Amino acid sequence: MRIPLAQPSITDLERSYVKEALDNVAISGTAEHVARFEKALAQRLKMPHAIAVANGTVALEAVLRALNIGIGDEVIVPALTFVSPAAMVKAVGAEPVFADITPENWTISGYEIERVRTRRTKAVIAVDIFGHPANYDWLSESQLPVIEDAAEAHGALYKGKPCGSFGIAATFSFHANKVITTGEGGAVLTRDKALAERIRLLKNHAMRPERPYHHEDYGHNWRLSNLPAAIGLGQVERWNELVEGRKIVQRAYDLFLPEEVMRQPVSRWATPSCWMTVVAHPKRDQIVAGLRAKGIDARAIWTALVDLPIYADGVRHETSSYPHSRWVSRYAFLLPTWHAMPLEYVEEICDEIGKLI
Ligand SMILES: *Cc1c(COP(=O)(O)O)cnc(C)c1O
Repeated sequence: MRIPLAQPSITDLERSYVKEALDNVAISGTAEHVARFEKALAQRLKMPHAIAVANGTVALEAVLRALNIGIGDEVIVPALTFVSPAAMVKAVGAEPVFADITPENWTISGYEIERVRTRRTKAVIAVDIFGHPANYDWLSESQLPVIEDAAEAHGALYKGKPCGSFGIAATFSFHANKVITTGEGGAVLTRDKALAERIRLLKNHAMRPERPYHHEDYGHNWRLSNLPAAIGLGQVERWNELVEGRKIVQRAYDLFLPEEVMRQPVSRWATPSCWMTVVAHPKRDQIVAGLRAKGIDARAIWTALVDLPIYADGVRHETSSYPHSRWVSRYAFLLPTWHAMPLEYVEEICDEIGKLI
């Protein structure tokens, strides 16, 4: 592809931290930069605990396992999201039950949560979709424990407070196409000290440093290695620059895109960040095919999870036909977006879209 979907921004700052780690031959998941990365993240989010893990998917698994969610339990997940929340609920033996999104901003609908919850419901995973925060006041009305999946929302604010600080725990991804990246990586943020300690324990084979090879539970290896953590340290220091860079690109799209292309709706109380520019149009499939033929890596967004046969057990058709998740899934698409993406690319992509319409 001539114009990729995303491209990480790595500067001499990240390079200097990686060099430092290499020069110290400090490359494991228990080395110094991991702790420095965690501290920088916690400070940035004004949270007492940040735990670095191998990726954003296992960050969700870590929270679910630490909360002892498992066989016989249900966790409510939005019907429209990248697959990780649903897959990790399955991974711990519980059942992901789907709630539709709201057309107001494409995040999980509080109304739909009430319709699908049962006595078995143990938690809700709210996704800050494409960088738009979920409605956390509304979610707290449900009285259910909320896990915030902020994988797409570094730098976003809900009523002035940062995404990554809501619910009993929040998770980030630092995959190469995310706003802040370590290549592959993730983190859990929480105010709950006991939960943080339990995740730290499970992350390292349920083994305490003072008692090697004694395992007090069934643990895992969820550790992030020191080299990506060193990259992450530089990225967190560049947080505002990286968040603002994508917003500039998104604003340029907004300016150049034909008017009939629909933008993701934004709620008045939200200050979204931009993970990807996501738009919708009835001719989505022709537009995406046309752009791809020109070497532009535009992509149709995810299939609604309620339309994947493997997740059929969590579909509640007696209460919902998931119209909004299905509509967005059918018509929305991602446009190439990254920090310092040349605005000539944006103009070119918008011109092509104009011609394809
Ligand atoms: C990217 C993403 C994840 C998964 O992150 P990985 O680091 O790729 O495992 C989870 N949830 C959402 C909503 C995402 O967009």
